[in-house]
Amino acid sequence: MKTSYSDVNFDVVVIGGGPAGVSSALQLAKRGVSVALVERSLEQEGRMGETIHPTIKPYLQNMGLWERFCLDQHLPSYGNRSAWGDCLLKETQFIFTPYGTGWHLNRDKFDMMLTDSAKQAGVRVFTGRIVRLLHKCSSGRWLIQLNGEYETMSARMVIDATGRTSKGDSSSRTQRMRVDNLIGIRGIMSIKPGMLRDLYTLTESVEDGWWYSAFVPSGQLVIYFFTDADIAKDKGYLSIEGWTSGLQKTLYTKLRSSFCLTGGKLKIRTAASSCLTKIVDENWLAVGDAACAFDPLSSFGIQKGLNMGEKAALAVTDYLQSGSFSFLQKYENDVRRSYRDYLVQWTKYYSMEQRWGNSKFWERRHYSDLSNEILD
Ligand SMILES: Cc1cc2nc3c(=O)[nH]c(=O)nc-3n(C[C@H](O)[C@H](O)[C@H](O)COP(=O)(O)OP(=O)(O)OC[C@H]3O[C@@H](n4cnc5c(N)ncnc54)[C@H](O)[C@@H]3O)c2cc1C
Repeated sequence: MKTSYSDVNFDVVVIGGGPAGVSSALQLAKRGVSVALVERSLEQEGRMGETIHPTIKPYLQNMGLWERFCLDQHLPSYGNRSAWGDCLLKETQFIFTPYGTGWHLNRDKFDMMLTDSAKQAGVRVFTGRIVRLLHKCSSGRWLIQLNGEYETMSARMVIDATGRTSKGDSSSRTQRMRVDNLIGIRGIMSIKPGMLRDLYTLTESVEDGWWYSAFVPSGQLVIYFFTDADIAKDKGYLSIEGWTSGLQKTLYTKLRSSFCLTGGKLKIRTAASSCLTKIVDENWLAVGDAACAFDPLSSFGIQKGLNMGEKAALAVTDYLQSGSFSFLQKYENDVRRSYRDYLVQWTKYYSMEQRWGNSKFWERRHYSDLSNEILD
């Protein structure tokens, strides 16, 4: 029998239970705001994103999660090795940062830790529920309809934390501005017999994009190929054969992988850099990748989600208490500024690779017109 949540009223409903959604909900609940969090997946579903920087430590400490994080047996990440711009492998070590190592995550445990902490802080968490419809009533309150027509809740404020496919507030003319059409194609591989796991991430650029790989606590190697959606389709990288044949043409990535794809399938996700044209509105705000999504090259998405979640919670609390829109506007300005800073870095990083003059993938990144996004 379905449970009916009709007539459940909250100050805030957060849609999306990724790092940004959980962080926003948790920080709001800590400030005494009544919050519901709605997440469409039932259990942890093997989300993408397995490596985090050492600089995540203060965020986890601030959320009161550092001790539990340390108990969850994530693997340390000692740094990055990268063949980018030429075929020599360069190494950046994390050990010299003030926070020590980075981490290769057991992503299911990490996500469970976040959700548990939100529940403990008093957030009402609804999993396995998709938000189907958002309707703004004349009173200004939101009516939120979940999977079934009898499952509704209402809120004074909605936070969109649905990730990088969010189209924003449907009641206004919000658009998603994309810089590219990057996708990540993930395969998980078993390790070659007798091979030692090294705890560095490896990034390697090739003519049609770049490869990324890291060992995870399960003992497997996670390998991504990042390319543009049209190139992947035209050149066959979406099939196991095409992806594996691309892998065999790498210099370094192939050396750490076996030829056996665990589970025998690839997982594909958009990884485009993008930003909403409107990040806040009356009683509405976007957070995390829903507001602006970075290229996974930065390996900062999870940390950015936690950080933005806290900023969003502060802005929303002040807005709800004072009724002044300026708190939301300031939040939007901050998000836009960090997205512009990110785009400057994005351009610099991709321009370091000049080996393939005839490659569509690199040409698009060397000559992409970011003036609107940067100057807006
Ligand atoms: C291929 C790839 C590899 C990456 N690797 C890394 C990495 O190594 N390190 C790193 O830090 N970052 C990485 N990232 C980025 C990182 O995954 C994201 O930046 C981060 O997850 C963003 O968090 P979020 O909470 O904003 O969104 P998400 O994590 O995308 O969470 C959004 C949530 O909303 C839910 N949802 C969506 N629609 C609805 C709906 N209608 N109703 C209810 N729920 C809904 C989804 O189920 C999802 O759980 C990677 C990204 C990609 C694409």
